[in-house]
Amino acid sequence: MAKKLTIALAGNPNSGKTTVFNALTGARQHVGNYPGVTVEKKEGTLRYKDYEINVVDLPGTYSLTAYSIDEIVARNFVVEEKPDVIIDIVDASNLERNLYLATQFMELGVPLVIALNMSDLATKQGLKIDKNNLSGLLGTPLVFTIATKRKGINELPDEAIRLVENKVKLRRTTVGYGKEIQDEIGKIEELLIKDKRLIEKYPSRWLAVKLLENDSEVIKKIKESPDADKILEVVEKSIAHLKTIFGDEPESIIADRRYGFISGACSEAVRKTYEIRHTISDRIDKVLINRILGVPIFLGLMWLVFKFTFRASEPLIGWVEAFQEWLGNLLGGILPEGSAIQSLVVDGIIGGVGSVLVFVPIIFLLFLAMAVLEDSGYMARAAFIMDKLMHKIGLHGRSFIPMLLGFGCNLPAIMATRTIEDRRDRLVTILVNPFMSCGARLPVYTLFIGAFFAERIAGNILFSLYILGILVAILMAKIFRKYLFKGPAAPFVMELPPYRLPTLKGLLIHMWERGSVYLKKAGTIIFAGCVLVWFLTNFPWNPRYSKDYDTLIEQAQNNEELVTQLENEQAFEKMEKSYAGSLGRTIAPVFKPLGFDDWKVSVGLVGGFIAKEIVVGTLGTLHSVGETDEESETLREALQNEKRPDGSKLYNPLVAFSLMVFVLLYIPCVAAIAVIKRETNSWRWPIFAAFYTTAIAWIVAFIIYQGGRVLGLGG
Ligand code: GDP
Ligand code: MG
Repeated sequence: MAKKLTIALAGNPNSGKTTVFNALTGARQHVGNYPGVTVEKKEGTLRYKDYEINVVDLPGTYSLTAYSIDEIVARNFVVEEKPDVIIDIVDASNLERNLYLATQFMELGVPLVIALNMSDLATKQGLKIDKNNLSGLLGTPLVFTIATKRKGINELPDEAIRLVENKVKLRRTTVGYGKEIQDEIGKIEELLIKDKRLIEKYPSRWLAVKLLENDSEVIKKIKESPDADKILEVVEKSIAHLKTIFGDEPESIIADRRYGFISGACSEAVRKTYEIRHTISDRIDKVLINRILGVPIFLGLMWLVFKFTFRASEPLIGWVEAFQEWLGNLLGGILPEGSAIQSLVVDGIIGGVGSVLVFVPIIFLLFLAMAVLEDSGYMARAAFIMDKLMHKIGLHGRSFIPMLLGFGCNLPAIMATRTIEDRRDRLVTILVNPFMSCGARLPVYTLFIGAFFAERIAGNILFSLYILGILVAILMAKIFRKYLFKGPAAPFVMELPPYRLPTLKGLLIHMWERGSVYLKKAGTIIFAGCVLVWFLTNFPWNPRYSKDYDTLIEQAQNNEELVTQLENEQAFEKMEKSYAGSLGRTIAPVFKPLGFDDWKVSVGLVGGFIAKEIVVGTLGTLHSVGETDEESETLREALQNEKRPDGSKLYNPLVAFSLMVFVLLYIPCVAAIAVIKRETNSWRWPIFAAFYTTAIAWIVAFIIYQGGRVLGLGG
């Protein structure tokens, strides 16, 4: 008894479907009609191995939208009759256009074999298709055929049978539509899955995409559901939302993304030995993803981004500082002088939170610049260029964008890993992201580099810290990939969507989405952290002093210099006797092998767990100098003169560098830990991240400090 099998042949008009059909079935054919319509249905049978295969020649279509009766017939046959395998006949000499239909079958989740027909013409045109590579990227078996010469024809039923018998080991892939569209798809799917009847035949994701595409047939189907009103209302909102972001119908954005997916796959797996490129995007790509020019152009653009960010934010930072000072003076004047509440509001909150808000302009502008690169389509190219390099560390280009965003703030960067589908890739990217030196570390670097390094090498020192972070991230990613998350990197299509002019609204939305994460951090966690640090450094409020300062100050009323000196002395003693003082002294020995076993910096480092900017704020407070931002000369001088108990100087360039390295690498801030918890949905990874980064920080700072001493770079 022969086993039965139904195969449907699909493909663009003129791709050679009928020729394949004839080659497969010979004379055993008959012609009928599809139910209810006058479209001709050709069927034939093929006896092959122990199978009796029913072959159906579907109408030729470019797409599976609901625009033509042919498309609807083809689609309905595939979904309603559920043939065992679809063979998509693709004109290999016109590959990218023909694969558009294939992406839609992939989306439908049907068993698919792709025939690269007309491969003789493709070769003539100078196309070299890497079959295994392309097959892995698309997640479907591929067969080269020349239907007119019957070449490869028998491989088609071979592959179809292998697929049915589950002998194919390929990872399924689909087009990723980018975060915005993906989010809307998710919202719609959530409603769809409530109606079991709807998703019986059609995958929910496919339905959602079709609804965003405004597919009249699918809308008709949805209208039969009791939840129809609600679903269509959400769809309408989603479409409107996407329209404002992209300035275009979601339908065309979705089509763009499909072509982007194909373009990415073909750029990787198809070599063109003669030039037959046509579109503008292709022409731009000839330069931008050029094998030689690609990386220098990317580095040049990144340099511009940073330059722009720092230049353009300068005046804005001035405004924030002025506002902060004004508010401090205002509230300081209103609140009772010398009271705990005045100290809390002015020093603790306005001083502390303010030193963080100063960085808001930089962060927002950086994200704005990144949004320009992303929305124009360039970022996808950067990821494409870096893909090969990233493969060397066991990740792929997708991980690259979150790493870049990490230079702004690790929180939105970690959230951006959502575009990475493979769980292991995503976890590795999340775990190494905190080594990307975020904006919050900058105040620490600025303070210590300014205090201990000559201006002429300041830039190099700063640069070396960023590079060190990247190197540690690469090394750790490699180690994680090898030991913790084993297995080869999944084949992956780096999408190359066509270039488009970003819309202002889209840019602002992107900037706001990422920047507001940072603002929220300043408003919540850093606020709380500043209050806590203030409390620890100010209480007990009236400690037992070694001298009776109040009386002494009163007696010295006429000697202003002496009064100031006494006041500073008192403030310092109060600090030393505060909870923070005892805490710092308990921890300091841990840092002895790193060179900075000092209670004040220890308190700063503990505060830095709340937010790394707090390291500077705390040092400022502990040195009881009025100004605590990184620019202040006084804090710099105080650090330069800081002494150990034996009277020797605490800091030298080596100690300062060791400290900066430690700040770069150690525990991610509380907010980052919270985001890791949320994104991985478990406590395991945030706790792991907290411990392993701190261990790495200690080890690297140890090597640098002790190594430096051996080399005689300071005591
Ligand atoms: P359909 O519209 O998809 O059914 O395409 P047809 O089977 O009618 O083929 C269209 C044209 O392409 C015909 O002239 C075929 O002879 C030709 N053709 C089909 N397959 C191949 C092939 O592999 N190589 C070449 N050179 N021509 C082919
Ligand atoms: Mg035909």
